[in-house]
Amino acid sequence: MSVERLELTSPIVQVPGIYERTARDLATLGLKAIGQLVAHLPSRHEHEQAEAPIVELKPDHNVSARGEVTDCRMSGYGKRSRFTAVLSDGTGRLDLVWFNAPYLRGKIHPGMTIRVQGKAKTYNHGLQLANPKLEILDPETDTKPALTDRLRAIYPASERVPSRVIERAMEIVLPVALPLIEDHLPPEHRAERDLPELREAYRMMHAPADEAEVARARRRLAYDELLMLQLGVAMKRYELRDAQRAPALRSSPVVQNKILSMFPYTLTGAQQRVVGELTDELTRDIPANRLVQGDVGSGKTLVALYAMMLAVESGHQATLMAPTELLAEQHFASISEILKDKGPRVELLTGSSQGAERQSILDRLAAGEIDILVGTHALLTEHVRFKSLAVAVIDEQHRFGVRQRAQLRSKGEDETGTTPHVVVMTATPIPRTISLTLFGDLDVSTIDELPPGRQPIETTIAPLTERETVYAMVRRHVEAGEQAYVVVPAIEGEDGGLVGVRDLTSELENGWLSGLRVAAVHGQLKRHTREHIMERFRRGLIDVLVATTVIEVGVDVPNATVMVIEQADRFGLAQLHQLRGRVGRGSKASRCVLISGMPTPESLERLGVMASTTDGFVVAERDFELRGPGEIFGAKQSGLPPFRVADLIRDSDLLQMARRDAQSWILRSPMLAQERERLIRNRVVKTHGEWLDIRVTG
Ligand code: ADP
Ligand code: MG
Repeated sequence: MSVERLELTSPIVQVPGIYERTARDLATLGLKAIGQLVAHLPSRHEHEQAEAPIVELKPDHNVSARGEVTDCRMSGYGKRSRFTAVLSDGTGRLDLVWFNAPYLRGKIHPGMTIRVQGKAKTYNHGLQLANPKLEILDPETDTKPALTDRLRAIYPASERVPSRVIERAMEIVLPVALPLIEDHLPPEHRAERDLPELREAYRMMHAPADEAEVARARRRLAYDELLMLQLGVAMKRYELRDAQRAPALRSSPVVQNKILSMFPYTLTGAQQRVVGELTDELTRDIPANRLVQGDVGSGKTLVALYAMMLAVESGHQATLMAPTELLAEQHFASISEILKDKGPRVELLTGSSQGAERQSILDRLAAGEIDILVGTHALLTEHVRFKSLAVAVIDEQHRFGVRQRAQLRSKGEDETGTTPHVVVMTATPIPRTISLTLFGDLDVSTIDELPPGRQPIETTIAPLTERETVYAMVRRHVEAGEQAYVVVPAIEGEDGGLVGVRDLTSELENGWLSGLRVAAVHGQLKRHTREHIMERFRRGLIDVLVATTVIEVGVDVPNATVMVIEQADRFGLAQLHQLRGRVGRGSKASRCVLISGMPTPESLERLGVMASTTDGFVVAERDFELRGPGEIFGAKQSGLPPFRVADLIRDSDLLQMARRDAQSWILRSPMLAQERERLIRNRVVKTHGEWLDIRVTG
């Protein structure tokens, strides 16, 4: 095949000069097409010294030479060991020494061709390199010496396919591939932002002349990633706000008083403010897409119920989706209690709803005979049809993906382009950079006040050796009429002494907590068993509940004042904060003990954050610093493709620029529908269409 016919999607092997074997090797890294290879970016660049004949090397200079190993030996032991070798190239000899490098024995043999780089020192009247950088060469293929200083791309590689092989293939493929790369950004757009052309950016990434070129290339590619994301988010927002309509709900002082009079509490100031923000939004026909964030225990459920009741009062339906069955059951119980004998018909739908019960719920839902449906992911299955869904609430959004938000929304869509208002709730506050990125399409309300009378939770850290004292404390509080939680990371124990829920429960019943009413709850129990246990715990018939993280969210028993977390090092900070939020819900003082089985400095630092603050925003910020954003906000779960170049923290300026650019672009050309936008539209849809659920055709 001739070179002119190649495309970015053509197999690498079609490029003249690429051997079958190389192509097969590259395929093991997932690199099959020319475009895939070019998109395989270096993880870093290394300065490479020009090579010189050994006779020309000068002491006290950085040098590089290649030649044959003529002798080598290992001497000394352990940290004192040294590996020495002699390198000869026909012009002279160079002594090499590596300290404490036992792995070199067996790796370097006489007769091998190698290349070394390092600082030359005078030694025994000759020259020596200590701990030089080493590269083993293939005398057949690695024939071109490096004649000038340069930056060398180092690629993500594997044992079978080292960076060097990728580098050589890139040298051959790049000249063929670069002309095939079309830029999706108009020249004026690039010029205004001083961005290089796309193909030039790839050239500078793979074969840079200097560091400045690498930086320029990085900036262009990072900008592109952020721009595509922001374009996707802006398109989604447009699609929602301008192309779809939601039911405009009715509110009036009468409606407002009616709903508030059903509630067991007077709303806090913060709850009132957020209810006001929601009311403004829900009474318009623009689909709401609002994030309500508020620390654990701030009373998000009542706010959500208010929004749902607005729908019901306007003759529509509402739904609340929770991440676990236990939480859905809790919500169902407390909402049913609040609305008892007041009219609204509330039902629960989870994976445990089966057979005739499930069918009856589905039928009544479709007939409009259910007003509020509480549930889990089970709400998303295709048979679930509402008659007229106006408000969809997602609790603990951080446990779901953005994709599921779209799915739930679609439950209320009909052919006329009507879509429900969506409200998502989270106790994991989101740093601004991330909210712009992951949740760029959400408006945010914050409940920044706890209901009155809350007692701060005192948090302490205890080593394993103090467990007995910890459980003696648990016993004292139970004997004073209070209740306790004990949280364990797993249901079953593991080798290595880590205890699971089951074993710990019987251990405690028969030991430190003997005579107390201890019960276990975890995800493997049947729903009715679990409901039964939770109900007994709520009614004070169980003293100590040993549980996995099924109780992480939502569980609300004000008389529980003690929380013990076993193997606390195993949990993330945000999760510990959520767990801790199960106590401190009543008027009695509460405490949380974190048992650390792994007192490393990092672990103690993390647990120390918990002991030093009860403010969820502070915890989230520290978590963010200690772990980075990805893990916390479940970028993976959300379906957001990972960035290859951009870094949300380092590139926050670029992110702001990309965001502004995307917004004004979408304002000018809402769905990127013009012919000259074909390329960028395709790239945006290809990267972000799925997780954002963008419905572009053509
Ligand atoms: P979260 O924001 O963590 O979801 P919840 O909605 O579960 O918090 O509320 C936590 C507890 O506070 C519940 O027991 C709830 O009944 C109570 N609560 C909520 N709002 C108020 C209020 N305005 N006054 C007093 N207690 C409240
Ligand atoms: Mg909650």
